[in-house]
Amino acid sequence: MKLILLGAPGAGKGTVAKRLTKTSGAVQISTGDILRGAVKEGSELGKQVAACMAAGDLVSDALIMRIMEARLQEPDCDSGFLLDGFPRTIPQAEALKELLAKLNIELDMAVNLDVPKDVVLDRLSTRRTCVNSDCQAIYNVKSNPPKQEGVCDKCGAAIVQREDETEEAISHRLATYEEKTAPLIGFYEAEGGRFVNER
Ligand code: AMP
Repeated sequence: MKLILLGAPGAGKGTVAKRLTKTSGAVQISTGDILRGAVKEGSELGKQVAACMAAGDLVSDALIMRIMEARLQEPDCDSGFLLDGFPRTIPQAEALKELLAKLNIELDMAVNLDVPKDVVLDRLSTRRTCVNSDCQAIYNVKSNPPKQEGVCDKCGAAIVQREDETEEAISHRLATYEEKTAPLIGFYEAEGGRFVNER
């Protein structure tokens, strides 16, 4: 299974990807997780992207493409992949198309998770994430709280609100989504036959 999962922040791309990895054997590739890992490690890449991510801005297309060109050639991608949070701009989608052709990889489908704006807004502001980068379990203070407040049920690490999930960063991320990422729906619709809209 080789899928692109499209949708606004908070639409559920990560949750759907995690479920599909269990049934399909495909790997989840989340550019957001890769970048957060780099920030946590304090690597050169992490230093480069930290401020941009905290503000809810997109990092540069060139940088993302360098990461993805390497990632898609790792052996675990042979059994399939679920792209979560990538591509995020038309230039990334165009570069991905070229990259896949070069690597002789055929995508099965692009799936858009179409969730109303008020729902994603509510979900993002109440979402909490486990700080353990090997776990990254997601909770919601309203609909799915951990058994003990602030503590991950799965690994016991702390649960926090992501730096880019303050009200200001969330509204910036949603505006960025509308401006830069929503046009990908038209891009993949135009690819024909391989686009699904899930509401
Ligand atoms: P996410 O977890 O997918 O919401 O991503 C968190 C943040 O990582 C985004 O707000 C961006 O700053 C950055 N990011 C993740 N994926 C991309 C991408 N494909 N292009 C540019 N920036 C990205």
